[in-house]
Amino acid sequence: PEASRRLSVSGVTTGYVRADVLHDVSIEAKPGRITCILGANGAGKSTLIRSILGLTPVRRGSVAFGGDTITNLATHRIAALGIATVPEGNRVLPRMSVLENLKVGGLLEKDRHRLAARMERMFETFPRLKERRNQLAGTLSGGERSMLSIARGLMTDPELIVFDEPSLGLSPLFVSEVFRIVRQLKEEGYTILLVEQNVRQTLDVADDGYVLAQGRVVAAGTSAALAADGELHKAYFGVH
Ligand code: ATP
Repeated sequence: PEASRRLSVSGVTTGYVRADVLHDVSIEAKPGRITCILGANGAGKSTLIRSILGLTPVRRGSVAFGGDTITNLATHRIAALGIATVPEGNRVLPRMSVLENLKVGGLLEKDRHRLAARMERMFETFPRLKERRNQLAGTLSGGERSMLSIARGLMTDPELIVFDEPSLGLSPLFVSEVFRIVRQLKEEGYTILLVEQNVRQTLDVADDGYVLAQGRVVAAGTSAALAADGELHKAYFGVH
């Protein structure tokens, strides 16, 4: 796709029954770029994603995608506007075949021809999945499962892809593979929001980034600037 819409989260405060978890959070994901959100366990990364996707109600502030305000819209309507998610841990439907997983990903598309064309494009991007199209997803290797969960997200024909800690639980080889795919997707024209704990490889692949700590944005800038900030590393990433 030729991405043209910007995701803007403006002054969002949200949380769960007992307390606010995000406090006045503002971030932007610019079209055609990779924007990363870094932060330790419990910093509020998942909550931020949930508020973008309409899963956790925004209490104050707003979320916009291009010219559309999407604050607290139903999740399927947000998806229909062109935002897809690749879930944490690269979840797939284990008892369904590769083909069936992709079909489920494309449920919103009613036109069979467009669906078939999209499926074909997925198989071009991920030839490995084509070879294994009739295999149960639960029997794929870790790397193949990552590919499938990404391909499943792409079946909705999005412009923006939100990755929720895609490297979580993967061995180092597959982690590199996931980051390679993220880079490839940017080259194909997608806009990417990448939420991660893996600081080094994430800053390496991303263009822009934000650091969340205790539900607030504590640093923002180009990835190069964040990577070069020694104080930031000491305070939030642990010194390596
Ligand atoms: P992780 O990497 O562990 O997923 P995170 O940065 O994504 O961490 P969140 O999952 O957004 O952080 O959690 C932020 C805070 O919100 C934590 O203190 C957590 O305990 C709390 N929290 C998360 N989900 C819920 C929930 N469903 N109900 C109540 N509190 C929650």
